[in-house]
Amino acid sequence: MTIEDDIKLKFLGGAGTVTGSKTLVEAQGQRILIDCGLFQGIKDLRKLNRDDFPVDPGSIDCIILTHAHLDHCGYIPVLVKNGFKGLIYCTQPTKELTEIILLDSGKIQEEDANKANRHGYSRHSLARPLYTASDAKQVSSFFSEHEYNSWVFITPTIKFQLHNAGHIIGSAMVELKIGEKKILFSGDMGRKDPLLLYPPKKVDHVDYLVLESTYGDREHKVVDLREELTSIILETYHRQGILMIPAFAVERTQEIIFLLHQLKDEGLIPNIPIYLDSPMAIEATLVFDKYPSWQDVSKYDLSRMYESIHFISDYQASKSVVMNKKPKIVIAGSGMLTGGRILNYLENHMKVAKNMLLFTGFQAAGTRGRAILEGSKFIKFFGEYHEVNCEVKSISSMSAHADRIEMLNWLRDFKTLPEKVILNHGEPHQADSFRVLLESKLDVLVVVPQLGESIKL
Ligand SMILES: [Zn+2]
Repeated sequence: MTIEDDIKLKFLGGAGTVTGSKTLVEAQGQRILIDCGLFQGIKDLRKLNRDDFPVDPGSIDCIILTHAHLDHCGYIPVLVKNGFKGLIYCTQPTKELTEIILLDSGKIQEEDANKANRHGYSRHSLARPLYTASDAKQVSSFFSEHEYNSWVFITPTIKFQLHNAGHIIGSAMVELKIGEKKILFSGDMGRKDPLLLYPPKKVDHVDYLVLESTYGDREHKVVDLREELTSIILETYHRQGILMIPAFAVERTQEIIFLLHQLKDEGLIPNIPIYLDSPMAIEATLVFDKYPSWQDVSKYDLSRMYESIHFISDYQASKSVVMNKKPKIVIAGSGMLTGGRILNYLENHMKVAKNMLLFTGFQAAGTRGRAILEGSKFIKFFGEYHEVNCEVKSISSMSAHADRIEMLNWLRDFKTLPEKVILNHGEPHQADSFRVLLESKLDVLVVVPQLGESIKL
């Protein structure tokens, strides 16, 4: 191999952690960034978002974006602000969802900075948002959208194609071909049988595989989701209670709507009103509605399922739904109760024992959602403490990530295994446990890079 054919991968995020995904590929004088995510979670991680970027953003030729989750796209506005001038390649749904998510992120950054300045709890003299809503809007002009399974040339000797990852709508694995070598970046990999999407694409061969490992140490429990949801709804309905579901705007909300519609359609639950009270989740749902062919659901079923829901964007309308004490199902953001309209529902209905609060997604440490799940009887918002007196339940089986066995089986379907598997997007114990599993079950070399580490291929 000549020097010009060297390929270097630098793990600038999503290594030793599940957030901040950024892998820099350096080859043939090009710098290609796979994902550009925000570090999230504990403070030490979030602080990394404020560090200088290790290379000049202006020297990065392009970004290839696997999907629209904030931990994969949320840092793009910072890079653009600091001189990135290239294209951002992704699918059409990813572009549209990323715009929605970045705008929301910019608004939250501004609100948080304002709050810190009002209460004087910033260590700096003035808290500054990482980026603003207006910075987020600047990103729109950089996108270049592509279908799955079609080669896109970056240079005459470097090309890539996107493949369905089955994680959220538009999510993609990136197959990058540099000279004669193929590298596949899995991005976040979906379940083997997603509710609304097609399963992750099967692959014959690549030379190198960069594979996520979020569930590298775990297997999903086998539960009947429909049965579980039905019994929670009936239980709440029989005591004339309100079922409150904190919403994650992308994919989880649409999955819940899909399930609720199915259960109603089959007469398994009564005809109770269902509200989606979240402007952001509604915007995301419109993207789902616009791209039926990207989902394993017919256009007819999609339109019917969204017709069975009341969309509440208007704030006044939201207020009247909040104040109404009749039995209903409400899906409202945010998913971990860190803000949003769900707090209005909690303020009014959480103190009443017959009502139900149902979590359908991961609750990060430090959030109100986690506190309630861990048994807190009082939580603070709107400047005061509120009693948690309603019933609290959690459905933990709705993960959008393949578990360790699903990923192992996906790899078993390769005709020829990669020369090297590089595990990223996992906490150290998750990645290491997965490395041991892969090495014991497959004849393959597995490495786990640290944050900031470079690997020469
Ligand atoms: Zn994701």
